[in-house]
Amino acid sequence: MTAFTYQIVATDGAARAGILRTAHGDVPTPVFMPVGTAGTVKAMTADSVRATGAPIVLGNTYHLMLRPGAERIAELGGLHRFMDWPGPILTDSGGFQVMSLAKLRKLDADGVTFQSHLDGATYRLTPERSIEIQHLLDATVTMVLDECTSFPATTDAARTSMQLSMEWARRSRDAFRPRAGYALFGIVQGSVYPKLREASAQALLRIGFDGYAIGGLAIGEGQATTFAVLDATMPHLPEQAPRYLMGVGTPDDLIGAVQRGVDMFDCVIPTRAGRTARAYTSRGVFNLRNARFAGDPAPLDASCPCPACTRHSRAYLHHLFKAEELLGPMLLTWHNVQYYQDLMRGLRHAITERRLDAHANGVRAGWLPEDPA
Ligand SMILES: [Zn+2]
Repeated sequence: MTAFTYQIVATDGAARAGILRTAHGDVPTPVFMPVGTAGTVKAMTADSVRATGAPIVLGNTYHLMLRPGAERIAELGGLHRFMDWPGPILTDSGGFQVMSLAKLRKLDADGVTFQSHLDGATYRLTPERSIEIQHLLDATVTMVLDECTSFPATTDAARTSMQLSMEWARRSRDAFRPRAGYALFGIVQGSVYPKLREASAQALLRIGFDGYAIGGLAIGEGQATTFAVLDATMPHLPEQAPRYLMGVGTPDDLIGAVQRGVDMFDCVIPTRAGRTARAYTSRGVFNLRNARFAGDPAPLDASCPCPACTRHSRAYLHHLFKAEELLGPMLLTWHNVQYYQDLMRGLRHAITERRLDAHANGVRAGWLPEDPA
């Protein structure tokens, strides 16, 4: 069985191109992980996700623990078999969505008790239970349970929250059962405060993880703050471990974070946008509901290999959304996931040729101003 390793194959400034080797296959980095919330990347088949070249997907512990339940998925052979994704899967800890979706949350030092947003049933999530659920799902990469510090937060509130997350990180480490090719990642917290981010990174390093995530961002702080937190955090993370920026972001966010040394990303933006007629393309963001596309015979993005672009016109995609046909969200989600995969492949290639900044400037220069919604 393959050991979980991360090998850096090229660097350009702070940016890295590498390969994660896992029990379920290799992941070239930098990588964008499509979000497979409830055991599916919404509106896509597993085959269509594979066709975009995505090497790894994300699953959400919160959704899967409520429905159909982690024990049931384990009985059915694990999440890989259940969703027809034999490749690597990273699962989140459930903490973020307990805080954003669940009703009547009650946080204590040991864990969090909450009511399902589906039927009001009461659940308890502790670091140990989160790790157990991710084990039952057979996650390739397991995330520690953390407390998501709200934004904005005072220094004192951010410190208290970060210290709780570090205690939960230690308990998560103790609960995790190491297996060849599987990994456990810690999560740096500390809000926007450089000293707290540094202290959090050092606490995680003392515990020891296979990779390090930067959490608590993409919650309304804005790109300049996100990048400032990365600049304050990255120097405290080990060179030889993968770095994962959770929940980020737009194509422009991804480029800036790769330039700062981030290796892994996930975000609902490309899939959510695909369901609402927003297309991410090499010429910027298009709103396909816009009347200017009604008679446009051109492909959505002439440089894109996806079926929405190679087999259909902008006019057809516009029509599908106006007629509320399900194929509209299906084709546009495929396209957006394809665009994100191609964006990351382009960044990776540019890193190996040590021309990342020039490549990034060229990508950004191609984007036109966005259509009004
Ligand atoms: Zn396309």
